[in-house]
Amino acid sequence: MNLPIKIFDTLTNSEQTLKTITPNHLKMYVCGPTVYDRPHLGNARSVVIYDLFFRFFREMFDEVIYVRNITDVDDKINAAAKEQGVSIYNLTAKITEFFYEDIGALKVLRPTYEPRATDHILEMIAMIEKLIASGNAYISYDHVLFDVNSYHDYGQLSNRNLDEMVAGSRVEIAAYKRNPLDFVLWKPANKGDDASSVFESPWGKGRPGWHIECSAMSSKYLGVDFDIHGGGADLQFPHHENEIAQSRCANKNSHYAHYWIHNGFLTVEGEKMSKSLKNFITVRDLLDQGIPGVVIRYLLTSTHYRKPFDFTQKSLDDATKTMEKFYAVFASNEEEIKKVLSEKTVINKVVLENLAQDLNISKVVSHLHEMAKEIKANNDINLKNEFVATLDFLGFIDVNFFEKKNDEVASDEDFINSQIELRKQAKLEKNFAKADEIRNNLLAQNIVLEDVVGGKTLWKKK
Ligand SMILES: [Zn+2]
Repeated sequence: MNLPIKIFDTLTNSEQTLKTITPNHLKMYVCGPTVYDRPHLGNARSVVIYDLFFRFFREMFDEVIYVRNITDVDDKINAAAKEQGVSIYNLTAKITEFFYEDIGALKVLRPTYEPRATDHILEMIAMIEKLIASGNAYISYDHVLFDVNSYHDYGQLSNRNLDEMVAGSRVEIAAYKRNPLDFVLWKPANKGDDASSVFESPWGKGRPGWHIECSAMSSKYLGVDFDIHGGGADLQFPHHENEIAQSRCANKNSHYAHYWIHNGFLTVEGEKMSKSLKNFITVRDLLDQGIPGVVIRYLLTSTHYRKPFDFTQKSLDDATKTMEKFYAVFASNEEEIKKVLSEKTVINKVVLENLAQDLNISKVVSHLHEMAKEIKANNDINLKNEFVATLDFLGFIDVNFFEKKNDEVASDEDFINSQIELRKQAKLEKNFAKADEIRNNLLAQNIVLEDVVGGKTLWKKK
């Protein structure tokens, strides 16, 4: 389909009309998960947003190559494996499996390539050697560091000067660095490190820095110049800034990614999600409450991707209502959905046109509501098929939707929610013994309650 596509490019800080390097062909790289913990809602938001871009681009271009890496070597992984007393290999294998399971429930498509960092150590070493040879990196106390002063455009992506970057960030000041902003390309292994996180290199045993991973893997699968690089806004600095610096220095005359896309933050009931605030919600927590994956997906995509998104119980309830409304216009059971899906036709043009406006999701959603209204009023079969095809294209169709809504979880849910209400009342009356009793009774039935900020209580199956 021939449609001018507008995207907001962080590098130029402006809306641009997308022009790919090769006509009708698009190459996109997105930073993937660090596999040390199950994906939380913030991780999931980023994953579903780039999945939506991918689905849209596949409609617009003859060929799309989408790469999303898996970071399976990292300090956080080492720390988590140590804490849990498991090997790094076992931890990363298990979490990778969980990742696919959880985001699979959100109808996320598999990218064209999903390279793992540990399978690309040689490519990273080759790139680091190039940077040393070109005078952009130096060896200090068994570390190899990128020399930020050797690259004039450093700070271009985050639009900050060197002093601002040092002051406003979590860059580590260390004796072995010439400049606090210099970042690690290779770090030495620590004594007692798990063998699966230790690799041979010309600079001794150790492991690569995180930034070099994405530079090495993107150029392997997409070439040194490619169209779009995406990731969360929190990765803009230093991660993406560093990717640009090392890639442009290692590959002279390359521009690296031509456009940069960043998605906004996610908060929970107005607060930053953190384990210490006990408002840390994983995709699995919601799925275990019987919330269909397509509802979670709808919720995470229905706020414009660049805006911050605040997850609240109300937003979840509203998303559920919207999906129920959409499903109600075309089906009432699994068989019906399958039947309508088999007849699917074209994707609605207005929806595609709105997606071409830097994923204008609010216009997409309001058009879906208009379509639903029209189908209900006129029972137009063609429009109904187009509606289903469009929802399916957006990743909102799940043949098990009704099953999930109607199974035992739903009936349990009423009981659990009533117990949560009673406990809340008991707490208000300062009857803490009763509140504890309710919690313990539910626990005996394998239901775990979790109090989150804003006075809400979430529950999950143990
Ligand atoms: Zn990355």
